[in-house]
Amino acid sequence: MAEHLDDPQAHQIYLNGDQIYTCASCHTHLARNEDVVSKGFQGRHGRAYLFKNVHNITLGPKEDRILMTGLHSVADIGCSICQSVVGWIYIYAFEESQKYKEGKYIVEKAKISKENFWIQKE
Ligand SMILES: [Zn+2]
Repeated sequence: MAEHLDDPQAHQIYLNGDQIYTCASCHTHLARNEDVVSKGFQGRHGRAYLFKNVHNITLGPKEDRILMTGLHSVADIGCSICQSVVGWIYIYAFEESQKYKEGKYIVEKAKISKENFWIQKE
């Protein structure tokens, strides 16, 4: 999926779906319910979700971090509209068993809200 992560002028992308995760500060659309890989992750501020796709974000500098599951290269991700840091992306996992996380995103539950969009059926 093409993203414009390095373009600070990027316009917000509006996602389609019944259930959308949005930035808790400014309600920018971040991810769809279908993009959740796992809800059993731990962030810096408590529970966190693993997503395969997150939109409307900017990437911070890449750094190596030792997490509970070993050494990973990660970069913080922030809302592209209000700049609040919502989690991080796994760029590289040094442990073979953690490779599935590469290219996926951790988003702190405390930093997002879930919004339901009911589609009216005629
Ligand atoms: Zn925001």
